[in-house]
Amino acid sequence: SSSSSSAMVKVIRVHELGGPEVLKWEEVEIGEPKEGEIRVKNKAIGVNFIDVYFRKGVYNAPLPFTPGMEAVGVVTAVGPGLTGRKVGNVVAYAGNPMGSYAEEQILPASVAVPVPSSIDFSVAAAVMLKGMTAQVLLRRVFKVERGHTVLILAAAGGVGSLLCQWANALGATVIGTVSNEEKAAQAAQDGCHHVIIYTKEDFEAKVHEITSGKGVNVVYDSVGKDTFQKSLACLASRGYMVNFGQSSGRPDPIPLSDLAAKSLFLTRPSLMHYTSTRDELLESAGEVFANVASGVLRIRVNHTYPLSEAARAHADLEARKTSGSIVLFPDN
Ligand code: NDP
Repeated sequence: SSSSSSAMVKVIRVHELGGPEVLKWEEVEIGEPKEGEIRVKNKAIGVNFIDVYFRKGVYNAPLPFTPGMEAVGVVTAVGPGLTGRKVGNVVAYAGNPMGSYAEEQILPASVAVPVPSSIDFSVAAAVMLKGMTAQVLLRRVFKVERGHTVLILAAAGGVGSLLCQWANALGATVIGTVSNEEKAAQAAQDGCHHVIIYTKEDFEAKVHEITSGKGVNVVYDSVGKDTFQKSLACLASRGYMVNFGQSSGRPDPIPLSDLAAKSLFLTRPSLMHYTSTRDELLESAGEVFANVASGVLRIRVNHTYPLSEAARAHADLEARKTSGSIVLFPDN
């Protein structure tokens, strides 16, 4: 590479935990990629609720840190010992290492996947982490099939929008919960057969009404504390409780007897444990990109911000003002 090892790039950094205001726009030095690494100039960066957890300290990272778990960009330098990686390649990644809220970053080549040229930067940044999460939840954690009834909380959210579309395409009856009318309209467009506005109606009662008292085969609950008990109560006998996030806070512990009451399954999956090998990563990303290309998934990039204004994106996400995906754009 021709760039010197002392190149400066702009990044968002967190020096102390707290509200959106702790996201600072700073210049840092970026070096050359080492053995097995690549340097990527980011073109679009996905915002995820996990970025909020790290900023607040719900999940822990050593300070100071640059948040961000996904981006798509162009390779600007290739470290020693790598074959098949070239300057100019378009790649995307989702998951560890953290640090995508940056104009340019260094990554292990093993986490980066090639992006098909039919998929543009903003769509790739919107769909990598959220799409692979949907793939894992619907196809591997619990295998959704024709005839199943599924309940999806936060159905208009980034992950929620994809879960609804994909579960519908798999032939399930889809029930979704959202906070307002606008989000309800989006969820219906995304293939939710029944949308419940939980601020107006009790979602547990409504699910029992919709399923004639039988309950649902699986609940995908990313809200956590506020909804966990009601989600359990929505399940049919031998149903699957999948808690995969906690946007309202960590759920309270439950006694095993709560599961015994209906022979329920309970799991708390994390994307990284399902994409830890290169084969699993490529398979998961490949299935997501194929569903984007075929039109099964329509990607809603409903909110975009300059990278320097990441704080505004976080404030909106936490205030439940957003739907679909949020993407940050560096100036470059
Ligand atoms: P979303 O776009 O879904 O945003 C969160 C949504 O949750 C809000 O828009 C809101 O929708 C709803 N919500 C309910 N209660 C609250 C609350 N107290 N505060 C804020 N929002 C609330 O975010 P993402 O798509 O980025 O992520 C969705 C969830 O999936 C997160 O919990 C995230 O941690 C989890 N996740 C987990 C992964 C894993 O590996 N386990 C991987 C990826 C995501 P409404 O207005 O309709 O209530």
